Amino acid sequence: MENLVPTTLIQALQKQKYHRIGGHSAVKRCKWFYEALTGGRSCYKHKFYGINSHQCIQMSPAVFYCTQQCLFCWRAQHSDLQVSWNEMTLPVWDVPEDIIRGIVRAQSRILSGYKGHVRLDPRSSGKPNVQDILLSVWLENLHSTNRWESSFTHFGARDMTTFLVTNGTLPKKLSGLSCEPTQLYVSVCAPNEEVFKRVCRPQVAGAWESLNETLALLQSFRCPTVMRSTLVKTRIWKM
Ligand code: SF4
Repeated sequence: MENLVPTTLIQALQKQKYHRIGGHSAVKRCKWFYEALTGGRSCYKHKFYGINSHQCIQMSPAVFYCTQQCLFCWRAQHSDLQVSWNEMTLPVWDVPEDIIRGIVRAQSRILSGYKGHVRLDPRSSGKPNVQDILLSVWLENLHSTNRWESSFTHFGARDMTTFLVTNGTLPKKLSGLSCEPTQLYVSVCAPNEEVFKRVCRPQVAGAWESLNETLALLQSFRCPTVMRSTLVKTRIWKM
C-alpha cells in the first residue's frame, strides 16, 4: 500500500484501527462485533439471516478510492489530510484469493483480543470465524478488474455470505457482475440532484443519472435489494 498512497494515509488508517490487507484493502471491527462478544447482542443480520455479528466482518477492497467524496464519508479523503492521490483509480489490484485469505487472518487477529469471552466463542458454534462479509467501495473504482468483481464465487465457495454496498455511480459494473451477492445495498443519500451534488460530491460526470439507472436495475436482481440512507442531523454543506 505504501507504493500506492502517501504514508500519512497509511498512518490515518492505522489510527482509525483498520487492519490493512495487501496493497489496498482493509477491514474494521464493527460496533456489533463488540456487542455480540461482550453483551450477546447482534445486529439485524442475526435476526433475519442467523448471522452472528462476531462472525461478520466489514471490509473494503479499495479503501482510498471512490467516485464520490461524501461529506459524511468514513474514509480518509485528501481534503482531510492535505495530501493528494488519485482517488478515482487504483492502478494495481491484488489477487482476490489473497485478499480473502487476508480477511480471514485479520478476523482471527481481531478475535484473539476477546479470548475471555467464551460465551460466544466462534469455535463453539461450529462455524468458521468469518461467516459474512460486508463489502463497501467494491465497485466504485473506474479501473477495477473483472477478475475482482466476479470474486463473489470465491466467497460462496467458502460458504460465506456477502452484503454488497454501492453508491450506484457505476451501473455498468453492477449489471456486469457474473454472480450476485447475498444482498445488495444502494446508498441513496440525497432527495434530489442539488443536494446530491453538495453532499455526495460526485467525481464522475452524470452521477445522479447513473444512480437512478442503478435503482432501475434493482428489479433485475434475484437477491434482496435495499436502498439505504445516511441521515445527518444538521445541514453539513455551505450555501
Ligand atoms: S460513496 Fe461511500 S465510500 Fe464513497 S465517498 Fe461516499 S460514503 Fe465514502
